[in-house]
Amino acid sequence: MSNGDWYCKNCGYVDGRNVTFSETCGTCRVPVVWHDANEKSALAEANETIAQLQARLHEVSEIYTGSDGFIPATAPEAYCLRIMYQMYRAAVGPQEGE
Ligand SMILES: [Zn+2]
Repeated sequence: MSNGDWYCKNCGYVDGRNVTFSETCGTCRVPVVWHDANEKSALAEANETIAQLQARLHEVSEIYTGSDGFIPATAPEAYCLRIMYQMYRAAVGPQEGE
């Protein structure tokens, strides 16, 4: 398993054999940076977590949307609906024009 890869901002990940002695890209001559393999997996892990959280928040908004058309008949029902709306708003965040 590789310990990491050289990264060129123009070419993406480049083979170590295409990196010059002064640590520039052999193709376009811009400086390259070393990306540690563990660093990349931490980034991939963070992206995965973000995607999972986005999916959960979307699910929350779908659940609230499912209550559309429900007319509360009692004060406790109205209270529960208001709480659900507040949770929905917290999940979707501020919308344009707010
Ligand atoms: Zn390059």
